[in-house]
Amino acid sequence: MKLSRKKILIISIVALNVFNGWVLYRWWRTRATRDAPQTTEMNAKIDTLVAEKKAERQKPVIDSVQQQAYLPILGKSDKLSARDFAKLQAYREKQRKIAKDYLGELYFNGDTSRKVVALTFDDGPDRRVTPQVLKILAKYKVPASFFLVGSYVKKYPEVVKQVVEAGHLVLNHSATHQSYLKKSKDWLKQDLLSTEEAIYKVIGKRPAMFRPPYGDIDAQMIEVIKDNDYKHIIWSYDTLDWTGASVDTIAQGLIQQVRPGEIVLMHSRSGVENTVKALPTIIQKLRAQGYQLVKLDEMLGIQAYK
Ligand SMILES: [Zn+2]
Repeated sequence: MKLSRKKILIISIVALNVFNGWVLYRWWRTRATRDAPQTTEMNAKIDTLVAEKKAERQKPVIDSVQQQAYLPILGKSDKLSARDFAKLQAYREKQRKIAKDYLGELYFNGDTSRKVVALTFDDGPDRRVTPQVLKILAKYKVPASFFLVGSYVKKYPEVVKQVVEAGHLVLNHSATHQSYLKKSKDWLKQDLLSTEEAIYKVIGKRPAMFRPPYGDIDAQMIEVIKDNDYKHIIWSYDTLDWTGASVDTIAQGLIQQVRPGEIVLMHSRSGVENTVKALPTIIQKLRAQGYQLVKLDEMLGIQAYK
């Protein structure tokens, strides 16, 4: 078959177009596959950014310390039966569960990435145990935090002055140590602010940290405390000195189980003399483990006073 020049020209043009089409197709495919992962990656990045921004808007303003999970509350006593201890454990878990809804309002522990421990002393002041605790803290140059009961503040103002002059924190622990559960809002406010006033009259400062008697917390009291510009401070380690635990139980329990960011509950009142005996060992052994003993405001990065 003899092809005319016209036919050859047409075939050549068709062939050239087909070739061009194939080249274009290959180029498009290469580009599509090369761009595909980048586009997916970029979309994922945008999604993450959008999600982060959304979470940022929903999240309450809280500091870095509070963003950490609460530590399980520790502390055992040789004076508690297995049954009572089980009850206590259940209560501790209940406290932590409630607290999870109030990030930035309740503190159980401090920054778990720092080897710091805050020693806290409740239920004072008194004329006997509190001065002994102060003497030991002064000897070892340990700063601490005291949650005081309003009625005792009025009774022993000179001891409160000693506490604050020694550089420790004087904080609010209610007027008469009644539980804050199942009380009216007015009662709670009155109890809280009358204690604050009693402290203010002695030290000229108003506390901004509150520890509820018995660690009892519920939604209503948390609201009242918050409305009055307080933060709740619970604890992550209870020495259980109030159960009459032995000196060895108080000291060794803490020394063996201590964790970074621990807030330690102890008492400075009559009936808990073993705390005084255990305190020097606790201070020395914690320091030997590399722990720094600090006040609550330093540990939590929040103000102790209004
Ligand atoms: Zn107490």
